[in-house]
Amino acid sequence: MAARALDGTATAAVIRQELVPRVAACVDRHGASPGLGVVLAGHDPASEIYVRHKLKAAAEIGIRAELTRVSADGHVDDVLAVVAQLNQRDDIHGILVQSPLPPGMGDDAETRVIDAIDPAKDVDGFTPSNVGLLVQNRKGLVACTPAGVMELLSRSAIDVKGMRAVVIGRSDIVGKPMALLLLHRHATVTICHSRTRDLAAVAREADLLVAAIGRPAFVTPAFVRPGATVIDVGINSVTDPGLVRSWFPADSPRAAAFEKRGALTVGDVHPAVADVAGALTPVPGGVGPLTIAMLLSNTVRAAETRLSR
Ligand code: NDP
Repeated sequence: MAARALDGTATAAVIRQELVPRVAACVDRHGASPGLGVVLAGHDPASEIYVRHKLKAAAEIGIRAELTRVSADGHVDDVLAVVAQLNQRDDIHGILVQSPLPPGMGDDAETRVIDAIDPAKDVDGFTPSNVGLLVQNRKGLVACTPAGVMELLSRSAIDVKGMRAVVIGRSDIVGKPMALLLLHRHATVTICHSRTRDLAAVAREADLLVAAIGRPAFVTPAFVRPGATVIDVGINSVTDPGLVRSWFPADSPRAAAFEKRGALTVGDVHPAVADVAGALTPVPGGVGPLTIAMLLSNTVRAAETRLSR
């Protein structure tokens, strides 16, 4: 691999350590540790894993994290009732409702639930109020994954000012806030999506390419200008042995991991991009750990703001 690997695991560990004295200060000054309320509706296997990781990471730095479960066949009103209670509680400073909600709760369930969260406790940064603050480059709680990418870039001494940045993906949770954060740091930003014409040619313009698509190995070397920094946000579980064989040599650790588990987590960026890019985030161990670190950071910040009022 020619590209410099941007180590998200190590950077996330540093961020989490930096939060420890801030948590202690909340306890010393205000007699309260930051409190995070996590809501999980249903039993989606991936959500179960994400929530477990979040609760563990919070507990490790002294955040009081508690889980409220809502039945998979519950109504969206059940989730809204839990959110309303968490909004009222003085000992809860951050609220996270794990996505996706069960399909039976309705197409607009996620929007209704996000709209119900007190913006001061919105540690995912998804409420219209926090999104509006981000658009205006004002202080608010920012979506964890793109905020984590910015931390990784700045802590890796990659200054995006003046860079041409291309973000592939325009979701509310990654693509759009990612583009805004890059814009506020003075990158020249292009947002691409499924209807973008000549996608590879647009991507090749980038000094900084962010892939947030949800398609394994979609970004091939043809998308990448030699020497560009490539951020792979994608998390895809692949079970097709043919695909894995086409990406990783039979004697590689990644192929061995697939043989052992029958599934492999890969990003949106093709492994061969490592031979072209100047710097690249690995999957796993790139953006993923930063998302959790920024959730903790947002929770501590929300607690500090509330407790010092
Ligand atoms: P969404 O499905 O909400 O958005 C995907 C985006 O990719 C859409 O804007 C879509 O375009 C675009 N897209 C899809 N297919 C193509 C294509 N063929 N060409 C160009 N653009 C395309 O996904 P998310 O933003 O939620 O997540 C993206 C990826 O990041 C996923 O793999 C997800 O698992 C991962 N993720 C990782 C996190 C982490 O912590 N590392 C956190 C959150 C997500 P259009 O809008 O036109 O449909």
